[in-house]
Amino acid sequence: MSQPGVMDTTVKERAGLALNDDFLRKAVKFTTERLRNGKKSASEEHGNWDEWRERGRQIRLHTIAYLDYYLNEFVNNARANGVHIHFADTSVEAAAIALDIAAHKQASTVVKSKSMVSEEVHLNHVLESAGIEAIETDLGEYIIQLAGEAPSHIVIPAIHKNRYQIAELLTKEAGEILEPDTTVLAGFVRKKLREKFLEADIGMTGCNFAIAETGSMVLFENEGNARMVSTVPKTQITLMGMERIIPSWTDLEVMATLLPRSATGQKLTMYMSGITGPRRTADADGPDEMHIIIVDNGRSLQLGDPEFQELLNCIRCGACLNACPVYRHIGGHAYGGTYSGPIGAVLTPALNGNIDEWNDIAGASSLCGACYEACPVKIPLHDMLVYLRRRKVEDGHGNKMESMGMKGFAAVVSNSKRFSAAIRLGQIGQKAVVRNNGITLKLGPLKGWNKYRVAPSLAKKSFRQQWNKLDQELNQEQPAMDPSVRSRMEQIIREREEGEGTKHGY
Ligand code: SF4
Repeated sequence: MSQPGVMDTTVKERAGLALNDDFLRKAVKFTTERLRNGKKSASEEHGNWDEWRERGRQIRLHTIAYLDYYLNEFVNNARANGVHIHFADTSVEAAAIALDIAAHKQASTVVKSKSMVSEEVHLNHVLESAGIEAIETDLGEYIIQLAGEAPSHIVIPAIHKNRYQIAELLTKEAGEILEPDTTVLAGFVRKKLREKFLEADIGMTGCNFAIAETGSMVLFENEGNARMVSTVPKTQITLMGMERIIPSWTDLEVMATLLPRSATGQKLTMYMSGITGPRRTADADGPDEMHIIIVDNGRSLQLGDPEFQELLNCIRCGACLNACPVYRHIGGHAYGGTYSGPIGAVLTPALNGNIDEWNDIAGASSLCGACYEACPVKIPLHDMLVYLRRRKVEDGHGNKMESMGMKGFAAVVSNSKRFSAAIRLGQIGQKAVVRNNGITLKLGPLKGWNKYRVAPSLAKKSFRQQWNKLDQELNQEQPAMDPSVRSRMEQIIREREEGEGTKHGY
């Protein structure tokens, strides 16, 4: 599930590269801001958004709790519709099944619409190694395929590229200079892909939702390429994660309200296709043969896990990426896996089942909770990141310095005398390194943090010191109370507390 070659580098190193890439930072910032604003307006305009989020969450919780039942129902209905169903336990198995179907059909060209599961199983690589041309037909996917890169966003795969970089890539492909104008660039790709749709032997799609009650699958898209992929070639293969199921078309109404608004700020995507089996005699178009590969690849490991099962509720809208202050600075490739951003930081180690290999990715978060606020099905990603960190420490992969630091911190803040002494020491010790009320020391544990930020210095007088001083001054100004007056006052307070205040007429 990793991008090629990433296991040789750390998140920190990859993030460092991204932070030094001005083009990437501007492009990611620009698009995530646009998407975030779009989502904000769409959800505000919709009204009672939180009620719909809660409804979406309940549908997903219920479906995943009864996943075996709904999966069974879906499979039975899809088979009754004439679909060939295949199950793949691992990514290798999923790719092998797809390759087998392609070999059986003697396919030489496969057109694909956007599918994160196909990225997860590295399908293009497998097909191409077998001499089968695999062509991405989603504009963003096509661009990164030409660039030889992995998607850096769940919804906008080429989010890290600007139109000048895209023009350069497409110019090479066209063999003539293409102006960095979006109409020109999109026009070239449209023309090029039309030919490919017509000559392809197989169309391959992902699946946004699979409807158990009718055995149908639903695709949301804006470019119309998924509709071409699923109707023109004679054979269709759909790759779907086993958790894509929802019980009914009524549930789809809720999902169709949440997904486009959260993903792109649209009320609905330009196309929404519901596909129930291959072409029937009376149908004008559609494939003669349809296969659905249901992929586990680590998903069932989350079932029954009280801390991570909710991961399977994800509807892949990408809103958590757009909301995340870390993702918005470093983009998706720094995360190293197929899935990036907060969902990727949890999903990659969870699906991979090997926290050791990914033990630095959970650290790429400020734990601010913006991902939870953005999530249309309320997945508590920030809590999951903490669980991952805890598991990492429990497995003996914690940072020893950090662990000692935390123990020392706990010992200081849990005792008021030690805390006050530490503040006084800090106030004296910081004098040598404070500039303009901030600390920019590029040494020791603060080195990395201070590279991009200024740490605030301790106040000359802490709130507690100021409070104590004020308290003392007030006590000095007020004359001591006569003991007989104090005793009478205390008696009155006691009587009032016992409900006898009326005796005294007040
Ligand atoms: S975790 Fe939530 S916000 Fe993030 S992609 Fe999944 S559904 Fe969308």
